[in-house]
Amino acid sequence: MENNNVTMDKIVSLCKNRGIIFQGSEIYGGMGNTWDYGPVGVEIKNNIKRAWWKRFVQENDNSFGVDAAILMNSRVWEASGHTTSFSDPKMDCKECKTRHRADNLIENYCIKHKIDGVIPDKMTNEEMEKFIEEHKIACPVCGKHNFTPIRQFKLMFETSRGVTEDNTDKIYSRPETAQGEFVNFLNVQRSMRAKVPFGIAQIGKAFRNEITPGNFIFRTIEFEQMEHQLFCKECDDEKFYNLYKQKAWDFLVSLGIDQTKLRFKDHDKLAHYAKNACDIQYNFPIGWSELNGIHNRTNYDLSRHQEFSGKNMMYLDPITNEKYIPYVVEYSIGADRLMLTVLCDAYREEKLEDGETRVVLKLAPFIAPYKACVLPLMKKNHSQKAQELHTMLAKYFMCDYDESGSIGKRYRRQDEIGTPYCITVDDDTLNNGTVTIRDRDTMKQDIVKIEDVKNYIQSRCEY
Ligand code: ATP
Repeated sequence: MENNNVTMDKIVSLCKNRGIIFQGSEIYGGMGNTWDYGPVGVEIKNNIKRAWWKRFVQENDNSFGVDAAILMNSRVWEASGHTTSFSDPKMDCKECKTRHRADNLIENYCIKHKIDGVIPDKMTNEEMEKFIEEHKIACPVCGKHNFTPIRQFKLMFETSRGVTEDNTDKIYSRPETAQGEFVNFLNVQRSMRAKVPFGIAQIGKAFRNEITPGNFIFRTIEFEQMEHQLFCKECDDEKFYNLYKQKAWDFLVSLGIDQTKLRFKDHDKLAHYAKNACDIQYNFPIGWSELNGIHNRTNYDLSRHQEFSGKNMMYLDPITNEKYIPYVVEYSIGADRLMLTVLCDAYREEKLEDGETRVVLKLAPFIAPYKACVLPLMKKNHSQKAQELHTMLAKYFMCDYDESGSIGKRYRRQDEIGTPYCITVDDDTLNNGTVTIRDRDTMKQDIVKIEDVKNYIQSRCEY
């Protein structure tokens, strides 16, 4: 019998104990809402990023990858509108001095009291203050109702660059990777002789001074985004918007994520330049929340960069000779938020026939940190042969080796990090050249010749 009694606490503790994710700067008491990926976690995250890249660059017709600098000319952020309007409505609790987002206070209050039809995204600051006052919404930390007025809280991290203190330029840690794709539109188009429609993709770090970070790696101040911008003709925008909605959904399903825990959610309020926008939400242990976004951004981004940089962003269609600034369909997903999704979705507690419970991460094999683990049945007799096998397999894929403790304990450790195959080396290996391969999910065992082990594992772990 299996269940998915997953809670955020269980995921956090599994991550810490099994080398997946640690608190950032832990030995100094931590640094709020920063997290370090450990040896196991970095493998999972890299596999997620590899799968995304394969789907959205390698296999995606006419898509090109870039890796743009994190620090960009400040004019980029003026053109994108971030310097003036990338902020959240902040309120401080005067009693316990905690900080909150006014829209979140209202949203959570309405969920709790089953009030329909209130959409904070569509409210002005004055309307939000009035709602909070009228409903006497309490501080979620101390329970009192005594807030400061709303102030817009800037989400970009600022730093400076310069030779002397009084001669510095303000620069920003990028709050999204998308601008690195927009500013390279001409470079990519020309150097790759790309014809519209074509896409530019990027995976990279982004930084946001979030008012209320939290829920483990769901919302952090430093995170990684995977973004794809599709440049197309205006008349094709809705076609590609729908196509990328489908592609985004199919990608999540291809990672083995349970479809009943996914849903589309249209944005209640569109940004002034957007023609259409939606999220895919996942039913996290904290409830339904955004996992990724798909946006029809019109030709706003390239037009703004044309205006601010003075560079001509027009595309000349080589067949029709039409000249136009392409529309953009953006697909954006956080690698860390997807990692959290994958972990929550794969977590199982299974009651075994002997009455024990095993925790197992049923990760898709290509996402699993190690594809296999080699286990000598008895350290004394079998470790030399097992090490030889491990050395051979490690040339092809991440392969673990474990010789400490009973076989049962070793299986449990591998189950908890989602290793799909455990290879036991025993007397049969020495005498007949065969090993036993145990499947993580079915716990069934196959006898396989040593020379076939590599193909056996590799063929089952492809994406
Ligand atoms: P939210 O409403 O959750 O703040 P957003 O709408 O501002 O997110 P986008 O700007 O569209 O998010 O960013 C695209 C994706 O980047 C999100 O769907 C999410 O997966 C990820 N993301 C955004 N902010 C964070 C964060 N602070 N921590 C981790 N991932 C994030």
